[in-house]
Amino acid sequence: MLTNMQTRDVETLIHPYTNLAAFRETGPLILDRGQGVWVHDVDGKPYLEGMAGLWCTALGYGNEELVEAAATQMRKLPFTHIFGGKSHDPAIELAEKLKEMAPVPISKVFFTNSGSEANDTQMKLVWYMNNALGRPQKKKIISRMRAYHGVTIASASLTGLPGNHNDFDLPIAGVRHTTCPHYYRQAEEGESEEAFATRLAAELEALILAEGPETVAAFIAEPVLGAGGVIVPPKTYYPKIQDVLTKYDIFFIGDEVITGFGRLGTAFGCEAMEMKPNSISIAKALSSAYQPIGGVMIPEDMYQAMVDESRKLGSFGHGYTYSGHPVAAAVALKTLEIYERESIFERVRAKIPQFVARRAALEDHPLVGEARGAGMVAAIELVADKKTKHQFDPKLGMAAKCVAFAQAEGLIVRNVFGDAVTICPPLVISPAEIDELFDRLTRALDKTL
Ligand code: PLP
Repeated sequence: MLTNMQTRDVETLIHPYTNLAAFRETGPLILDRGQGVWVHDVDGKPYLEGMAGLWCTALGYGNEELVEAAATQMRKLPFTHIFGGKSHDPAIELAEKLKEMAPVPISKVFFTNSGSEANDTQMKLVWYMNNALGRPQKKKIISRMRAYHGVTIASASLTGLPGNHNDFDLPIAGVRHTTCPHYYRQAEEGESEEAFATRLAAELEALILAEGPETVAAFIAEPVLGAGGVIVPPKTYYPKIQDVLTKYDIFFIGDEVITGFGRLGTAFGCEAMEMKPNSISIAKALSSAYQPIGGVMIPEDMYQAMVDESRKLGSFGHGYTYSGHPVAAAVALKTLEIYERESIFERVRAKIPQFVARRAALEDHPLVGEARGAGMVAAIELVADKKTKHQFDPKLGMAAKCVAFAQAEGLIVRNVFGDAVTICPPLVISPAEIDELFDRLTRALDKTL
């Protein structure tokens, strides 16, 4: 039986990523407020936010400094665009700060409102650059199965999940997907992690050769695949992939939308994963989700090609009304200041051993085939048979059941691709709250059995 508020919701709102038919019966969980790592529903019931919203509220809820940063900027100058040469202090300072933090040589920053727009922009910039460089045939982009790069037509095409393609007539032409680096599911019988990484690099090379290296512009990768089920590639995977990309002059786009800003205990995930991208997409924890903002950080040679092309065409014809929005930029700047002042990334590193130990212990549970992750992000994959790794019939919705039991236990986690349950708490979670999170999840798993 839906409450009055749930009925109003069902009658008016379209929810992203929702079974729109089933939802009419169940209605939404309506949240009302939050403090620290806790959110409360409209009836006052508290939930530990084990997903940091959608992998994004890194500083948790109720951070007054971020509220003040927004309010101050709103009073001063709530909006100016940065088209055609206009600018403002928060955007300038934020770009400077990001350049300073960047783990690879970055020349310039372009702001978007979201991660999808960041990856959409990445694709357009690669095309624009290659036109400027006089190689208009070098346009294909290679992504990976189970990657998640967003939902715009281009970024959804880069995403490697059937649910984002089916009946949307995607992916668009020129996008290819190579094997997902998931050792647990993709490794051959008796194959070591090292051999698996070597094989995947060889598969990438074979794909590039089949397409024609002169037609392949870029490869895009999340350091750790997030929404595809928190997949951590083997240690030597990125160096091997990198060698292939270098060999064929293929631009490397790093998607740090989840892994950026401390999630793996380093400022950027690529530092933890030995990955050296040419450009980087950011969003989510950039503002701890207190304002929507994303961006792309690009190298000097790409920027120079863009300068040349815009000279030729008269303008660089890309940008959003809210690119570098002053309020979002001010909040992002304050977020980065807090990360630094409060040594948030170092503190994450100190908490990782406890988080990893609690995560690893879940593998003893009869339902859990793999408990995987890196830093402070994890997933458990539920299986019907631990030994054979046999999956449950998808119709049973085992992970969805587990997530529902967790919600009843006052814990928010998420079911993504297949029977994976993901965990990605705010970075400010305390050691006692980490224990609370895993205790509640264990009780939910016991009920799912
Ligand atoms: N890239 C990655 C790695 C993501 O995880 C996401 C969102 O979860 C996106 C891009 C898309 O970001 P947004 O939802 O802000 O468009």
